[in-house]
Amino acid sequence: MKGGRPENSLAKILSLEMASLSGKVQTVLGLVEPSQLGQTLTHEHLTMTFDCCYTPPWSGQEALSKRSFEMKNLFWIQNNPYSHKENLRLNQETEAIKEELLYYKASGGGALVENTTSGISRNVKTLKWFAEETGVHIISGAGFYVDGTHSPETRAMSIEQLTEIITNEILHGADGTDIKCGVIGEIGCSWPLTESENKVLQATAHAQSQLGCPVIVHPGRNPNSPFQIIRILQEAGADVSKTVMSHLDRTIFDKKELLEFARLGCYLEYDLFGTVLLHYQLEPDIDMPDDNKRIKRIRLLANEGYEDRLLIAHDIHTKHRLMKYGGHGYSHILNNIVPKMLIRGISKNAIGKILVENPKQWLTFK
Ligand SMILES: [Zn+2]
Repeated sequence: MKGGRPENSLAKILSLEMASLSGKVQTVLGLVEPSQLGQTLTHEHLTMTFDCCYTPPWSGQEALSKRSFEMKNLFWIQNNPYSHKENLRLNQETEAIKEELLYYKASGGGALVENTTSGISRNVKTLKWFAEETGVHIISGAGFYVDGTHSPETRAMSIEQLTEIITNEILHGADGTDIKCGVIGEIGCSWPLTESENKVLQATAHAQSQLGCPVIVHPGRNPNSPFQIIRILQEAGADVSKTVMSHLDRTIFDKKELLEFARLGCYLEYDLFGTVLLHYQLEPDIDMPDDNKRIKRIRLLANEGYEDRLLIAHDIHTKHRLMKYGGHGYSHILNNIVPKMLIRGISKNAIGKILVENPKQWLTFK
């Protein structure tokens, strides 16, 4: 616009909005003091669809993919979670998930990051309802999931347009509502990284440098992916110290490589607690580790001086992991993993950092 005045006032409004976020955490019910969060899971889903990752079953087992959730079918569903169509519809379980959130709260949980982004059916209205019904603080995610879920319109956007969408979801509201996101991500990345994902990563960095907000990224299933992502974010001006690398459990296996990655300074997230798989359908070359291995990795990183950088979660994204279907639910970490961590020599102080202090620091706007 001519004369600059309207633009100046727009910039003024924007800077006022950003100033009000500083030092706070933004939940779906509004801003809260960071100290109100308590124990926090930093990577969960309460409502999403995962049809994008449907995997046909082994030949001869097609009929099993349509069987109902009966006891006798559960083992097959647990081992072939992405081959069972109904299992991919977490968004059909609002009542069950409300109950499980109340149980999470009764188990000592205070908050969780629901990082469903565009592409896998984010639903901030339902998240707000969960927060109102249960009293659990819920932080919603802005941005886009992996390329396979990008619409043609998303793919055609410039970095500036993508940045504007992400910024708007945090400052004004997501999905056509006034319910605001409090974190960017999970930003989905594939291996190899696609052009559209690369643009979204740069947009994420630009939005973060404007807003001072937390960021969380889902890496591709290759040990080089987390390194590449951090490099792209850094070059585009992101604050790596306020960025979480998710899913390290299934991504970096080599110890030396893991410690090299840890030195880059982002948060290190082990977020597949409760996942037990003989065959990892989404990347058959990877043997999915179990919880004992996850705990060992956390102990290693804590002993190497990274206890201020560690975060944990379950990343529940399918029905079979809910308690309703015989799964571990959102309280598994608090009820089963924490006691086991203590047995394995991870100190109470370190566990407090992982579950309370680190999430709080990460989620607080600069
Ligand atoms: Zn996730």
